[in-house]
Amino acid sequence: MRHNHGEAVMSSKPNIVFIMSDDHASHAMGCYGSRINTTPNLDRIADGGMRFDNCFCTNSICTPSRASILAGTYNHVNGVTTLSTPMDNRLQTFPKLLQQHGYQTAVFGKWHLGTGPEHCPTGFDDWAVLPGQGLYHNPEFIFNGPDGGTRQNVHGYVTDIITDMSLDWLDSRDPQKPFCLLCHHKAPHREWEPDEKHAAMYLNEEIPEPDTLYDDYSNRASAAAAAEMRVGVHMEKGDLKCIINKSLPEGELRKWAYQRYIKDYLRVIASIDDNVGRILDWLDHENLTDDTVVIYTSDQGFFLGDHGWYDKRFMYEESLRMPFIVRYPKEIRPQAQCGDIVLNVDFPSLVLDLAGVEVPGDFQGRSFRSQLRGVTPPDWRTSFYYRYWMHKAHHNVYAHYGVRTHDHKLIYYYSDGLGQTGAIDESYEPEWELFDLKKDPNEMHNVYGDPGYATVARKLKDELHRLQDEVGDRRYALDTDD
Ligand code: CA
Repeated sequence: MRHNHGEAVMSSKPNIVFIMSDDHASHAMGCYGSRINTTPNLDRIADGGMRFDNCFCTNSICTPSRASILAGTYNHVNGVTTLSTPMDNRLQTFPKLLQQHGYQTAVFGKWHLGTGPEHCPTGFDDWAVLPGQGLYHNPEFIFNGPDGGTRQNVHGYVTDIITDMSLDWLDSRDPQKPFCLLCHHKAPHREWEPDEKHAAMYLNEEIPEPDTLYDDYSNRASAAAAAEMRVGVHMEKGDLKCIINKSLPEGELRKWAYQRYIKDYLRVIASIDDNVGRILDWLDHENLTDDTVVIYTSDQGFFLGDHGWYDKRFMYEESLRMPFIVRYPKEIRPQAQCGDIVLNVDFPSLVLDLAGVEVPGDFQGRSFRSQLRGVTPPDWRTSFYYRYWMHKAHHNVYAHYGVRTHDHKLIYYYSDGLGQTGAIDESYEPEWELFDLKKDPNEMHNVYGDPGYATVARKLKDELHRLQDEVGDRRYALDTDD
């Protein structure tokens, strides 16, 4: 026996450190082959464990993805379909179950599932969360307390503060019991305000541009051109911290604004990386590394100038993909990779499985613990269902749903608010998009309607409807089997 401090209980129940950032795309992480930055501390997690190369969200927006990650259900089931539908805190979640099974539990940082007595964190021994999006500098926090908690400002930079709170809680824990810490960073969410330490990074550098920065949205359904999230023209002064000259030709404006935007995005990520390093150092120092599952993920991906955009929401690759790296030396060999399709709704099942706690029958995800040991179960999924409900409300992105397999993606823009809270009730003619991800990984050519893809389209439509039945969602009235 080693590194055990004589605490027998620790060997049977692993500790869980679940670190989640907000809008951190995997193509801005060194361990995912980033061309634009380095993340040495995040890479420590991947180097010591497993990198998932096909992890996806089922609705690419903050609040809904966070609800799926806690409650293990799709948004039509947990009711958190948009940013305006806070999560009912009576729902069953994985932290509640861990707490009931002897874990010390805490969450610090971004919550974004609503505030007040009905929506504040439950299932945690301690918590302190940002109201709504929170601020980067000297943020207000809501602290654990009666009637939804008490508010107080905290001096400092948000990523440092969230890490300080996490480490203070870890230091004060009962070492006889396992712990589950949720460390939820606000960064790198818009408006990307770096701290002093990282403000001068990249000052005299040119960051490489993505291949699709100058996308003109031809060969796609009308939703792409209609979206109002283009770098430059659809940004505000606060995004770029200066006056934006919108009379410039758009290509020129986009080129300039990309550099300003992406540098701040990467600077706030540099602070996350440093602070993740502090947590990993603490685990090393306490000899807890072998007994602790460390996960790093983000609530969805982000367009890093890809398709000329910032933001997320679309079922396109850059926003659909989530980073997911996990280290647990007792079960995962170093520098492992997995290409199986795993989803945000799977995370609670995985964590409960690792903790030896039975997964409730109404959780819709599936544990991928077997993959951690290098084994893909023979009946593992080869497709998944996605839905974005928040029709037009932000950035004029149309409501859509779809299916992705390893090779193809079929998207149906039903383009209707359907009376959802947080969506706009206007409807447009529905449209389909089909992408051949092997031939067209950047998704620049919609091949729906191309006779050469008729069989593929037919099969994907059937698969989409099968998945809707499986997860219990309803298809749009005009989406027929024809
Ligand atoms: Ca987010």
